[in-house]
Amino acid sequence: MPDAQPSYRRILLKVSGEVLMGDQGFGIDLATLDTVASDIAEVVRAGVQLCLVIGGGNIFRGVSMAGKGMERASADYMGMLATVMNALALQAALEKQGVQTRVQSAIPMEAICEPYIRRRALRHLEKGRVVIFAAGLGAPFFTTDTPAALRAAEMGCDALLKGTSVDGVYTADPKKEPGAQRYERLSYFEVLAQDLRVMDASAIALMRDNAIPIVVFSIRERGNLLRVLRGEGIHTTITETRIAV
Ligand code: UDP
Repeated sequence: MPDAQPSYRRILLKVSGEVLMGDQGFGIDLATLDTVASDIAEVVRAGVQLCLVIGGGNIFRGVSMAGKGMERASADYMGMLATVMNALALQAALEKQGVQTRVQSAIPMEAICEPYIRRRALRHLEKGRVVIFAAGLGAPFFTTDTPAALRAAEMGCDALLKGTSVDGVYTADPKKEPGAQRYERLSYFEVLAQDLRVMDASAIALMRDNAIPIVVFSIRERGNLLRVLRGEGIHTTITETRIAV
């Protein structure tokens, strides 16, 4: 039997920066970067139009430096620059796999990437290019969750996929509580009301208002992205109504 076709036409994949550091404590692990890139390449070859937002937590997170006394807005701008570094790393890794890409930054940096222009980004997607959105919203006091949700809505994506190091949303932190159970499905309301911390509340609300499903899965497992898009891999889906536990 031929493999099932992915059920989404256009998606936004949010990868947290921490994924890129692999088992290192900091920065970019090249083997992990290549694995993530080849998973993305596989999905693009299957015909899915793909937008990417990459975090910066493997390099710099504004809120941590602000906690140590740095002014929050400056620390956040540094965090946004970290996302640009990750975007360029992922762009290079994807192009090595033969995938065409464009990086668009919310903070213009014309020597290294395009500025964010919505209509141009849409055109890139139609041509089969992966568009990597860097520098978040270009505004401090956010993480990359909200820009991921915003770009998913702006680009007319069918789903927002959150690739992390955990294979879904659990009743408690599975690394600390071995008895924690994974949810198969959740509603936006449950995530917000129970403060499940899947993504920032503003990102969840934006997806709820635009009826875009959120799919949480582990991107650390090779080939999982395509499996999840085919409805096979382990994940948690967040939609308006919870269909089953
Ligand atoms: N950031 C910001 N505004 C944005 C997006 C990101 O100020 O619109 C900063 C913020 O300091 C954040 C950092 O960039 O902590 C890195 O992003 P994030 O924490 O989302 O990275 P991740 O946890 O996904 O690795």
